[in-house]
Amino acid sequence: MPMMLTYAFSPEYMIHNLTISEIRVAFKHAFRKWASVIPVNFTETDDYGFADIKIGFYNGDHGDGEPFDGVLGILAHSFSPESGRFHLDAAETWAVDFQKEKSTVAIDLESVATHEIGHLLGLGHSSVKEAVMYPSLMPRDQKLELTMDDIEGVQALYGSNPNFRFSSMLESDISTNNSVGNRVQKIRTNIGALQVQIGNKEVVTKPKSIGVLIMTAL
Ligand SMILES: [Zn+2]
Ligand SMILES: [Zn+2]
Repeated sequence: MPMMLTYAFSPEYMIHNLTISEIRVAFKHAFRKWASVIPVNFTETDDYGFADIKIGFYNGDHGDGEPFDGVLGILAHSFSPESGRFHLDAAETWAVDFQKEKSTVAIDLESVATHEIGHLLGLGHSSVKEAVMYPSLMPRDQKLELTMDDIEGVQALYGSNPNFRFSSMLESDISTNNSVGNRVQKIRTNIGALQVQIGNKEVVTKPKSIGVLIMTAL
């Protein structure tokens, strides 16, 4: 039996530059990626109060001791399912389509959702640069596909989805990167960090190079 987790959007704390259906699609895609590799199902529910994962967009200090900070900087934070809070900074220019959203500080909603779901599942940050769980994302950039590192990390916690096959994934990964031993090492590091991720939050600082966001877990 796969584990079932429900998620819901706050009826009050939403953003208005995207439609609710655009937001729902971005999250649906993000949840589906993780569900395809582990035996966990995610289902949207209207019952916000009882949802395992509660998604909302908040401004500044919003009562959980982790205030948001306006444009860029902190983008989002999330907590493991016991709490299930999945908060995004309402001050960001959230985007699902960079053709439509021209802002230079636009942040890709699906990329951040995918990263945060990794935290909700218990994953820490990865040192593998291509990984979804790598703590860095540039404005107007996307990081949508789970890498071997993300998959190994989450499968160490939940096991594999019976329908998931590693082989095709492995081939493409190995063809672009021969340092398999190195990668295994990094996966171990990732798994080792899992125990300290409850209450994990995102902190983003702006380094000197323009437009690059570095997120650091505290
Ligand atoms: Zn919060
Ligand atoms: Zn993170």
